[in-house]
Amino acid sequence: MDHWLLITGISQLLTLRGSTARRGASLSKLGIVKDGAVLVRNGRIAAAGTRREVEASSESRNAEKLDVAGRVVLPGFVDSHTHLIHAASRAEEYELKIQGVSYEEIAQKGGGILNSVKKLRAATKDALKHRARAALEAFVSHGTTTVEAKSGYGLDTASELRILTLQKELREGQPLDIVSTFLGAHVVPEEFRRKADGAERYTTMVIEKMLPEVAGQNLAEFCDVFCDRGAFTRLEAKRILVEGKRHGLVPRLHAEQLSRKRAAQLGVELGAASCDHLEQINSSDISALAGSRTAATLLPGCDFHLGWRNYAPARKLIDAGAIVALATDYNPGTSPTVSMPMILSLACTQLRMTPAEAIAAATINGAYALRREKIVGSIETGKQADLAVFEVEDYREIPYYFGEHRCWMTLKRGEIIYMQD
Ligand SMILES: [Zn+2]
Repeated sequence: MDHWLLITGISQLLTLRGSTARRGASLSKLGIVKDGAVLVRNGRIAAAGTRREVEASSESRNAEKLDVAGRVVLPGFVDSHTHLIHAASRAEEYELKIQGVSYEEIAQKGGGILNSVKKLRAATKDALKHRARAALEAFVSHGTTTVEAKSGYGLDTASELRILTLQKELREGQPLDIVSTFLGAHVVPEEFRRKADGAERYTTMVIEKMLPEVAGQNLAEFCDVFCDRGAFTRLEAKRILVEGKRHGLVPRLHAEQLSRKRAAQLGVELGAASCDHLEQINSSDISALAGSRTAATLLPGCDFHLGWRNYAPARKLIDAGAIVALATDYNPGTSPTVSMPMILSLACTQLRMTPAEAIAAATINGAYALRREKIVGSIETGKQADLAVFEVEDYREIPYYFGEHRCWMTLKRGEIIYMQD
């Protein structure tokens, strides 16, 4: 028996229709329908349009009804960059940073990513799972329906495989789609740092030991490298990503966050799904990204949390025609937030993106960055009924009410997975 659900009472329905990546002026076209309705059949969208159009069908008459009483409905957020699995917060470092100790000084003293590696290796599977599940519930409560999740706090073969296996297990028993990325090349782990050619040897281990296992066990779709000062060089990144590609893993990169390593241009050359961060890019990087099919994913939560003021040049990227996406970069060191609405607020005030641009960047372009733009990221016939309902009258109020919880309901494949009390 088919299950039909009719959603009405939508003051603004942001359809984002088109199912393609948005660039330039198209980034601000949300495909808004006033007094909208959505008809869902077995978790997929059967119709989306004005209430009059959608209600006219016979299926609508017999469908289960959901009236959202004048609220705004948009596609569930697609968060294309998270470090979902980690053992603990790094609040102690947060305090040090506020007191003036730099992120890189902390990293050199075994803090930063290596601190999270130590904690993850010592954590039990149950503890990691428990923490990740709580985070997933929080993502849902902020309107997110798909998350990417990276390994990268294991940094030895067993621990990296453990994280990716856990991500696979987390798909069961909770509603979100979790898209896995192998980030064995996050930083060089402590035990390799002591050796003279440690980075070289670790890179070889990623290539010869980790990648074949990750691909062989089908544990990830993407391969990521943190290519930056204190992490991996452009050459090491290229070796890993090329090898990842040979194993069927699509490349993506942490690029030009702390220093410019021409990682973004490497990403473009390799046909990466996305290059993320981009705080330090110059005009030639902007042209390269704009002329490519690689998404430029911006993570303003990092600069905000670290108290930095070197936000990525979003306006220039958009105006040049790059495919700009937004993500939380949920992680314990630089962006401990699951809130895409907060990221939208930062995108508006700090990146000078309009509310419409920010919403498109966090939905359809996020989906594109995960190569899922035909499945999620917009509200149109045939797509998964992944929806976020916000307690606002106008979509611009979603970033406008910063730091407030305005997500009223979240639906995944037509099922209500969150509702505000
Ligand atoms: Zn990251």
